[in-house]
Amino acid sequence: MSLDGTYDAGNIFAKILRGEAPSVRVFEDDHVLAFMDVFPQARGHTLVIPKHSTARNFLEEAPEIVGPLMLGVQRVARAVRAALNPDGLVVTQFNGAPAGQTVYHLHFHIIPRWTGQELRGHGVGAMADLDELKALAAQISAKIS
Ligand code: AMP
Repeated sequence: MSLDGTYDAGNIFAKILRGEAPSVRVFEDDHVLAFMDVFPQARGHTLVIPKHSTARNFLEEAPEIVGPLMLGVQRVARAVRAALNPDGLVVTQFNGAPAGQTVYHLHFHIIPRWTGQELRGHGVGAMADLDELKALAAQISAKIS
């Protein structure tokens, strides 16, 4: 998928937003939804997506959505830090398949990092244990402020 294309309302994140596919939810407000990545690159890997958007990537997003979206990303990133006490934290986002994008509804990754722990590959890892994801989501959710 190139940088240009048409938004597919059947993408997995659109289905999650509509409640047609399951997710382990962390946080939601009027603008964003945060949920656990089911193929986490590190413990606590969380995704934040805009709720009212048909942008496939960051370049396509409307400015009035970018503002509240980034506030949501920061809010969730702070909660991930407070909950899991990582040594560092990656906030990232991919645009187009050559950049590593696999799901074409705009999203930001929040990935905690611990010194000496390798980052698992992007989109190649095993599916996480759902009970473990739910426990992590509860920990992070409790630190949203
Ligand atoms: P990207 O490759 O940047 O488009 O990121 C898509 C991310 O979504 C990857 O990290 C996947 O592990 C993750 N992912 C794919 N399907 C699901 C799902 N059903 N629930 C949660 N995360 C997902």
